[in-house]
Amino acid sequence: MKFSEITGHEDIKKVLVSMADSGRVPHAMLFYENEGCGALSLAVAFVQYLNCKEHHDGDSCGECTSCHKVSKLIHPDMHFVFPVTSGAKADATSKPTSDSYVRHWRELAMQNPYFLESDLFKALGIEGKSGNIAVAEAKSILEKLSFSTVEDGYRSFIIWLPEKMNAEAANRLLKIVEEPPEKTIFIFITHAPEKVLQTIFSRCQSLRIPPQTKEEVAAALMKMTGTGEAEAGTIAGLSGGSIGKALSALRGREDETGFLDIFSDLMRASLSRDLLSAIESGEQMAALDSREKQKAFCNFAGECVRKIFMMQNDMGQIACVSPQETAFFSETARKVRPSFCQKALGFIDKATLLIDRNVNAKIVFCDLVNRIFLSV
Ligand SMILES: [Zn+2]
Repeated sequence: MKFSEITGHEDIKKVLVSMADSGRVPHAMLFYENEGCGALSLAVAFVQYLNCKEHHDGDSCGECTSCHKVSKLIHPDMHFVFPVTSGAKADATSKPTSDSYVRHWRELAMQNPYFLESDLFKALGIEGKSGNIAVAEAKSILEKLSFSTVEDGYRSFIIWLPEKMNAEAANRLLKIVEEPPEKTIFIFITHAPEKVLQTIFSRCQSLRIPPQTKEEVAAALMKMTGTGEAEAGTIAGLSGGSIGKALSALRGREDETGFLDIFSDLMRASLSRDLLSAIESGEQMAALDSREKQKAFCNFAGECVRKIFMMQNDMGQIACVSPQETAFFSETARKVRPSFCQKALGFIDKATLLIDRNVNAKIVFCDLVNRIFLSV
C-alpha cells in the first residue's frame, strides 16, 4: 500500500516519510487511534516505504518486487502479531499464535484495512472469546529474530492491540524491543494506550493517529464501496471519524434491508394464511450466516413489531418509519389483531434467548414462525 492510497492523514505521512528520509527511524513505535481510523494502513505503507529502493516524492514506487510483496501483506520480513485464542480456524497447534491464523488476518486486511476488533475476531472464528498475546507469541517473535532476514531491507513486526499482551509475554520481549537488531522495527497499534503495559509503552515513540474528517470518511466510503454521496455523508456523520466504523454501519444497513425483506415476507405470508411461504421465511432466518446475525435479525424483528404497535395506536409519527416502509407497516398494522404485538414480542424474545444458548436455529425459527402465523 502506498501512502497516496490512504485517505487523509497527510501530516502523519509527512512525519513518517521524514523519519525514513533522515535515517532516524525509531526502533519501536506506538500508533494509537480510535479503532478503524487507518493506523494499520499507515504502518503497512511505512514499511513499504522503508523497504522500497525506488521511493520518491514522499511515497514508495508501488512497482518493485518489495512493494508488491508488502502490499499483498506477504513480505517475508514483515510479521503480524495480533491477539488470538484457540479456535477451529487455527492451523493446528495446541498453543495458537498469530501465525496459526495469519491467512485469515491477511484476507481480512486486504479486503478492509480499517477492520474493527469485532471484525477480526469474527474473521478468525473466535468471536465471543477473549484473544490475547501470550508467551507462545513472544517465543515466536524471538525465534524469528534469531534468523537473518530473507531480503535486504527492514524487518518489521506490526503488533496489533498490545493492550492484549500479558505480562509474561511483555517481559520476554522487553529487551529486544529496547535494543532490537539493526534494521528491525516494532510498530505497536493500540486502541487503548492506557492499557498497554507501561514497560512496553515507555520503550516506544508514540504517534497519535487522529480521527478523520467527515469528508474524508465519506470519500473513503464512496471509493471503497461505491455508496452514493448522500448515504456516505449520512453514515460518515455518525462514524466519529472512523472509516472502519462507517464501513461497519454500512454493512449493518445492508443487513437490515435483507432483514426487512424476510420479516415482511413472513408477515404477508401469515396474513394471507400461506403456511408454506411462512416456513420458507423461517428457513431464511436460520440460514443467516452467524448466530450474531440471527440475533441481530431477532432484534430487528422486535423493532418492526414495535413500529406496527405504534401505527396501530396512532403513534405513527414517532415510529421512525421511512417513506419506503410506510405502506408495509400501515397495512400490517391495520390487518393484524390488537393482541398480536404483545404476543409477538414475547416469541421474539424467547427466540433470541434460545439462539444465544446455541439451540438449533432451524428449530428455533420454525417455532417462531409457527407462533407468529397463529397469532396475526
Ligand atoms: Zn517499490
